[in-house]
Order: sequence, then C-alpha cells, then structure tokens
Amino acid sequence: MGIFEENRRLEELDKKCIWHPFTQMKEWLEEKPMIISEGRDCFIKDIYGRWYLDGVSSLWVNIYGHRKKEIDDAIKEQIDSIAHSTLLGLSNAPAIKLAEKLVQIVQRSFSLKSEIRSASGGPKSELCKVFYSDDGSTSVEVALKIAFQYWKNKGIDGRNIFASLNNAYHGDTIGAVSVGGIDIFHKTFEPLLFKTYKAPSPYCYRCELGMDYPGCNLACLDKMEEIFKANPGEIAAMIIEPMIQAAGGMITSPPGYLKGVRELCTKYGILMIADEVATGFGRTGKMFACEHENIVPDIMCLSKGITGGYMPLAVTLTTDEIFNAFLGEFKDLKTFFHGHSYTGNPLACAAALTCLDLFEKEEVLKNLNGKSKILEAWLKEVLNLRHVGDVRNIGLMAGVELVRDKETKEPYDWAEKMGWRVAYHARENGVFIRPLGNIMVIMPPLSISPENLNQLLKVIKDSITAVTES
Ligand code: PMP
Repeated sequence: MGIFEENRRLEELDKKCIWHPFTQMKEWLEEKPMIISEGRDCFIKDIYGRWYLDGVSSLWVNIYGHRKKEIDDAIKEQIDSIAHSTLLGLSNAPAIKLAEKLVQIVQRSFSLKSEIRSASGGPKSELCKVFYSDDGSTSVEVALKIAFQYWKNKGIDGRNIFASLNNAYHGDTIGAVSVGGIDIFHKTFEPLLFKTYKAPSPYCYRCELGMDYPGCNLACLDKMEEIFKANPGEIAAMIIEPMIQAAGGMITSPPGYLKGVRELCTKYGILMIADEVATGFGRTGKMFACEHENIVPDIMCLSKGITGGYMPLAVTLTTDEIFNAFLGEFKDLKTFFHGHSYTGNPLACAAALTCLDLFEKEEVLKNLNGKSKILEAWLKEVLNLRHVGDVRNIGLMAGVELVRDKETKEPYDWAEKMGWRVAYHARENGVFIRPLGNIMVIMPPLSISPENLNQLLKVIKDSITAVTES
C-alpha cells in the first residue's frame, strides 16, 4: 500500500472507530482529521509531512519538547526491567525514588513559606506524603476523598461539603465535575453532582460583583468568607486552581487573592486543596503557582507536566497530619480505600524522575524569564487589536480574550466559533493551538526557543487580525 492510500485508510478508520474527547463528532466526521505521526522539539508532524508548532504543549503537558533523548532513554531502560506492577500492597523502585524526589522539590519550593498553614490547627507539617494516580481528574478525586475521610477519621462529623469557585475546572470525573464551575461543560450533569458552595471567580475583566480591582479590595474574598461563616463546621475543604483558572478561560487572580483564600481556610478550619495539575512544574514561572503568594496548601494535586508530557501520571500530596489520621488498626477501617490499576506505573515514574532531574540540570525556571518577557510584550501589542478585549498571563500560560465589541465587552456568540476560526487559520500557517471558546490559549513547551516563540506569537497575532477584522 502506498503512503497516500495508507493515510486515507487511517483517516477513514479514525472516523469509523474513534470518539474524540471534547469534540463535536458530527463536525469531525465532516472534516479531514489531522493525524500526528511524529514529534521533534516543539513541533508535531502530520501524516502528510507538514510540521506544526505545538502551541499548547500537547494539551498543557509537554515541557522539553518531543523526543527528549533523556526521557526516551529512561523509558527504554525501565522497559527492560518491568513495565508495570501494582502499587496496591506492593512497591516499585521508580515510584519510591520519584516520591522522594517530589517531596524534596516540594519542600524546597515551599520552605520558609509555612507561616499561614494547617487548617485544623494541628502541628505544622510539610507536604510529604505522595499518593499516586493516573491523571489530573483522578488526583482531584483522591484529594476530595482524602479531605472528606480525614474529618471522619478524626471523629469530626458534619464536614460533608466542598467549596470551590465559579469558572473552576478540576477534571471530568463526577467528583471533579461537582467542584467545577463551567456551565457549558458541567450543567448537563447537575442532577448527578454532589452539593458544593460556589464562591465568585476572581475574573477581574468580567467581575461577577460588578467591581474594579484594586478599588474592590478583593470583595470576592468577602463573599467567600460569607459562605464560610454561614456554614460553620460544614465545609470539608476548599479546592482552588492557584493563580489561574486555566480551562475557565485563563483567568489570572489579582495579587493578594490566593493568600486571602489560604487565610480564610485557616481561619475557618477548612482544608485547602491546591489543584496544580495545570500550573505545576514551571508553567507559571515558578515550580508551583502557590509560591507566587507564599502559601502552602494542605493537599496538592499534580499531573500533566510531571512526566514532561510523556505518560499519564498524577500525584496527590498531603501533610503528615492528614496522613496520620488514616493510621489505625485493620479493623478500624480508617484505611483509604482508593487505588487504580496503573497507580504508580514504573514506566511513568521513570519518565517523571528523569523529567524532574532535567528541571534542575537545564535550569528550566531560570530560562523562562526571558520568554515570559517576550510573551508579555506581545500580549501588550495584541491588546491594541480591534477585537481583543483582555490579555492575561502568568509565566508561559496566557490567554487572549476575543470580543465582538471592545467598548461594551460584548463577547462573540459561542456558536460563532471565533476562537476556533482563529485556531484553524493558525493551523494553515504551521501553528497548532486549541482555544477555550473565545479565549486563545498560548501555552508552549517550556523549552521553546525564543525564535520559535516569536514565530508562534506572530502567526497567532496574524490569525487573530485576519479572522476578526476580515
Ligand atoms: N485540574 C486542572 C486545573 C486542569 O487544568 C485539568 C485538565 N486540563 C485537570 C484537573 C484534569 O486533568 P486530566 O485531563 O489529566 O484528567
């Protein structure tokens, strides 16, 4: 079979057999699917040999680009020992070494930052226990279940409800959806979801309270406090995406907001869960987003970048204090009855271990500074475009909000697919990006060279202009 026949066959088979996530399949079936066959550095290649800049890090996971030799080698080496064995009542060397490494990194990142801590008022302790799972959503499910059972195990009844934010996104499993706050994704499932208290999103461009920062004095935190105050002893934990609500529209929180959330959680004895699935491992310019406001959560979820974008892996980190609440006699049933088939997968852990070693060796964080500046200068420029209402970024995570009318902030209709039209235009010019409604997301691999970053930004700007001003 020739290469073109083989490509046609793949396209037909894809349409025949695959149901793609977050994709309207009617449209997919009418279009020519883009099928990726190879990756190098920050580029991905389709089956016709066309190369594209990977502008969203293969859905926010990639750090060093594709085919990073050290990570390739680590996986090959591990596969010669064993690909998988369970972590349920058994252990494996890569999972152990990675847990040690993660705890070291977390403690280094958070040392000296443990002033405001410990929701339950117990002895201060660091995030030092690692619970493995497979992806962001499961790391969140684990965090919610641990927080819930923590109170039960301590003999404290009544803390049965979670608090979260409007516009929050924590994954697609039912627990994660329950604490989510994006109607388009989550509303359908409402009858299935558990009760939560929702505080306002810190979305300054479209403030729910109709106020302006800094004159508002962070009134959204007052609303959160009202919820905490009105429901004493009811809330198990507050879950938050620190510094930026990513899937909600790259909504960056104003200075002081995250710290305020930590203070409120401590004041009302509520556990704080930081969902760093998107922000962890350098995306925001620091190892973890919580570092921007010097706060330490009680529970932290990590995934995506942990393996450099190679394999599915996630962890939920907790303090000793929380871990200790699960210790007891076999008969006491304080055990955390949760675990997945591939939890602590040795191949994924080997990839992650190498990924984290490289973080230090290649001084990833130090090298981000210049690139964040390029991105920020570009964002200032595109804010002048006729249909760009707002630009937001923290580190190498950025969003450009397209609006029909800049004066009134009138958004484009969801059905107009304006973000997608810009993304398709960019694709024709060698850049792969995936928008969130009317928000253009820019999140390249952290290793992107300044030249490639400039090229990525040029194509996106040209595409925004061409599509919105035509
Ligand atoms: N939490 C956050 C903050 C996320 O951005 C995501 C995914 N975009 C998730 C959780 C869910 O991760 P996954 O898709 O790996 O389940």
